[in-house]
Formats: sequence, structure tokens, C-alpha cells
Amino acid sequence: MIDSIYVHIPFCAKKCNYCAFNSKVSNEEEISAYVDALITEIKNIPYSLYPYSPISLYFGGGTPTILKISQLEKIISNLKIDSAAEITIEANPGTVDENYLKNLRELGFNRLSLGVQSFNDEILKILGRIHDSKTALETIQNAKKFFDNISIDLMYGLPSQKLSDVQRAVEIAVAQDIQHISIYGLEIEEGTNFGKLYAAGKLILPDDEKMYDYITENLPRAGFQRYEISNFAKKNFESRHNLGYWTGAKYLGFGAGAHSYNGKIRTSNIRDVATYIKKIRAGESVSLVEEIISPNAAMEEFCFLGLRTAKGLSVETFSKKFGRNIFEVYGAVIDKYLKLELLNFSDGRIFLTPRGMKLGNIILADFLL
Ligand code: SF4
Repeated sequence: MIDSIYVHIPFCAKKCNYCAFNSKVSNEEEISAYVDALITEIKNIPYSLYPYSPISLYFGGGTPTILKISQLEKIISNLKIDSAAEITIEANPGTVDENYLKNLRELGFNRLSLGVQSFNDEILKILGRIHDSKTALETIQNAKKFFDNISIDLMYGLPSQKLSDVQRAVEIAVAQDIQHISIYGLEIEEGTNFGKLYAAGKLILPDDEKMYDYITENLPRAGFQRYEISNFAKKNFESRHNLGYWTGAKYLGFGAGAHSYNGKIRTSNIRDVATYIKKIRAGESVSLVEEIISPNAAMEEFCFLGLRTAKGLSVETFSKKFGRNIFEVYGAVIDKYLKLELLNFSDGRIFLTPRGMKLGNIILADFLL
């Protein structure tokens, strides 16, 4: 049984300076050919093998809203999805006007995830974003006319960013009466413009610890509960799609570079857009087996993903899933972090403390078997 569907749209109006996602600037001809290939891939999945009614559908990118409404309609009409599912589309300010947002809602999208990143125009320029803060605010206001489940992405640790910028961004974000905020620290990725500048010693990054502290302390005060390391939501507005990833849900991904997971095997599609289109046209498979999940890898993953969430992982679920007691497998590491008060154990669940979340990556790495 598949829990979620992901559709990847690998096109953007402009490549941002920090971005290592599978996305590129393209032309109408290639975008149109990609949409056709995507629909063929969707149609080729034998639904008899996937007797699903997914809890979520997610259009990510890239910038899915670079597509025309008619193209989105063609794709979504080929997916079997119940209107009760969470149906998200990522959008970028500057690519959607009021009419487009209205059309999205009419197509069945019921959650909008906006890549705002910052409310400081200078910083937006440095990031290479196509929008300014005024456009971002207008897009949020327009979106609120049609959507009652809106998320925005914000970033911290950015070149020339000060703590006061982060404070202002948080204040503006919480004043927008939206439901969800994802916050990401800048990561320098190889192959990006920032990666090159950083390697050449030309990118100065701020100390982001106080920014992190400000965000993680103040969003919950403003009613956005932290339910995952990077995600904050008002009550009942946690992203069902992302929670699925963190709790081991099975998902099916369509499009260039999209991943799928059936509980045992993880596959990924060919990343290159031109090759993806060519192979689909030739009737060839675009899916490559990436990893057959061994029992050890499954236990590691269960812990990594579960511990990213505020609820943490269930000791009982671990036993049921793997036929072993988690303390037999991870007793020493759990004990170590309980003593350091970086982990907590209560009501049958193990979870990171607020200080543990801050050191998340170091702790999670210790769960490797
Ligand atoms: S809009 Fe998003 S996906 Fe596109 S280049 Fe910028 S960061 Fe990458």
C-alpha cells in the first residue's frame, strides 16, 4: 500500500546561487515534452500493483508553478487521488498571481508551500531569488484568499544576514496568519555558485547560533509548534506528506530524479531531464534501484527519521517492526545521550530534547550500526 505520491517538476525561472536541487532553467518546448513524459510515466504504473488511496500528494521542484495551469491539470487528472488527501504544491513568489492561485485551488491543491526564504531584499538578491519581499507579501495575501493551509520557507545563516534580519523575518512571518513555517540553515553545496565562492574564500557567512536560538524559541511562543527539526506548525497543520517521510511511509515518486520507496527497496529516477524524456519516449524504464534496505539500514533509518520529529520514536513500534528491543540494539548510545540530557525517554517514546535537536546531526550519526 502506497501512502504518498511525489511529483517532481525540475524547472525554475532562474537558478538560485545556493541551490543543488534537481532543477534548471529551460524552454517551453522541453517543459512541454517533460509534462508529456511525466504523464506517460504515471500512466505506466500498473495501478493493480499499487492499490492505494494516498494520504498525500506533493508537487515539488524546482518550481512546479512554472507550469501552465493546463499542464498541471493534465498531470493531476492522471493521478488517482482522493480530495480528502493533503495536496501540496510548492510555489515561488513571482511565479503566481491571484488568478493562478485561484486556479490551483480549483484543481484540488489544498496546501501551498511558498519559497519566501527572506524578507530582506538585499539578501534575496544575494541568494539569486527572482522575487523581492513586497512580492512575497503580496503572494501570501493573494494565497490567503484561496488557501487555508499555507507554509512558507525561511532561511538563516545567509551571507550578510544579521540576527536582526532573522528577528524581523520571524515577526513578519508570524504576522501573516499562515499555518506552517519551515526554517532551513544555509548549507553550502558543491557545484553551486555559493559553493564556488565559498571554496575561493569569497563567501562570508555569519555565526548562525543565535539565529537558530531565536527561531526555535520564538516560533513556538507565537503558536507554531516545532514538530520536526526544521518544521513548525499551528495545531493540526503539520505536513502529512513530510510526516510520512519521517515515519517510514511508502511513497511513489514521478519525474526526473524522483525517489520511490515500497518499504523494502528505494529507487530513484534518472535525474537528467533530457535523458528522462528520451527514455520514456523509447518505452524504457527510468527507475534505478538505489538501495535494498537491509534490516540494519531499516533500523538506522527508523531512528534517524523518528528522532527528527518532536514526538520521537516509539519503543513498541521498533519491537513490532524489527522483532528486537531497541535497548538491545542501541542501549549504549541511548544511555549516553539520556545521561547528557540530549535525549529523553517518556511514555514509551524516545525523543531529542531541545538541546539535542540543536546537535541533531551529531547524535543521529551515532545511530549508525
Ligand atoms: S527556486 Fe528553489 S529549486 Fe529553483 S533554483 Fe531556487 S532554490 Fe532551487
